Amino acid sequence: AKYTGTDRAREHSGALDATAQHHAELAAALRGGLRRGEFRLLYQPIVELPSGAVTGVEALIRWQPDDQPVISPAEFIPVAEHSGLIIDLGAWILDTACADAAVWQLRYGAAGPRVNINVSARQLLDPDLPGMVAGALSRHGLAPDRITIEITETAVFAGGAAMETVRELRELGVGLALDDFGTGHSSLTLLRTCPVTTLKVDKSFIDDLNGTAEQEAIASSLSTIASTLGLRAVAEGVETQDQADRLYALGYRYAQGYHFARPIPAEGIDALLNAPMLT
Ligand code: C2E
Ligand code: CA
Ligand code: CA
Ligand code: CA
Repeated sequence: AKYTGTDRAREHSGALDATAQHHAELAAALRGGLRRGEFRLLYQPIVELPSGAVTGVEALIRWQPDDQPVISPAEFIPVAEHSGLIIDLGAWILDTACADAAVWQLRYGAAGPRVNINVSARQLLDPDLPGMVAGALSRHGLAPDRITIEITETAVFAGGAAMETVRELRELGVGLALDDFGTGHSSLTLLRTCPVTTLKVDKSFIDDLNGTAEQEAIASSLSTIASTLGLRAVAEGVETQDQADRLYALGYRYAQGYHFARPIPAEGIDALLNAPMLT
């Protein structure tokens, strides 16, 4: 990364604090890591309740710099966003996830897992995003319904252009999931204007389902909103069988969480699929 003169002056004046310094170093390291191929995608199953059959997977990025422990996306995605590198990193994520989705499409057809791909706020503000998605689909011969783009409410509200980008994405025929649903400030307003196909109900609403009436009422309302609007609801962060049972009773038909499977490499997903024998 090249610092501007102003950045340098600020750094020399000591105003660039330890965190900003750390971010600048991390941003430079990320760029190098992308060049050296240090990123990979893991896939976490999204299952149907109550059978537990895998119907989809969410692509989750990991960064493993040489001889170092894996770095969590929670640490580097914000830095990639801030530095703008998310555009290149996002292009790599999109291409890699579509390549894996195309393998599953070839092996299992429409019965194969749909692949959810996370897109960050900065990417949603990039007018080239729908074109990049269309390009990745055609490069890999992938039907648009094989992927779902995950966006957050915060990202959609980040600017006027974001909503237009969302509409263009939907017009491509890809699925659109509202991630961390319920945690934003205007979830319900957004549903009137944003053409999503899936609501991913945030883990915070799923965590305390041990019989408290309020939590159950909220979780139940969120699944009702989804079904009333003809959307699919996915419960996020399910960690126990008891939660899965309660969610099913509250109307949830899809779930994701450590109880079913952690994020794993693509090859591991094939082992989990109960696909009919291909002849
Ligand atoms: P997210 O999109 O909400 O993804 C769900 C996170 O919850 C993942 O963390 C997943 O591993 C974790 N999780 C799943 N089931 C459980 C569970 O039962 N219990 C608990 N405690 N956690 C569970 P991860 O992989 O560390 O990703 C964190 C965040 O980083 C993601 O949150 C997403 O915002 C971002 N992220 C990850 N991969 C990508 C990517 O490819 N692109 C972008 N833009 N962001 C990504
Ligand atoms: Ca997500
Ligand atoms: Ca989420
Ligand atoms: Ca989240």
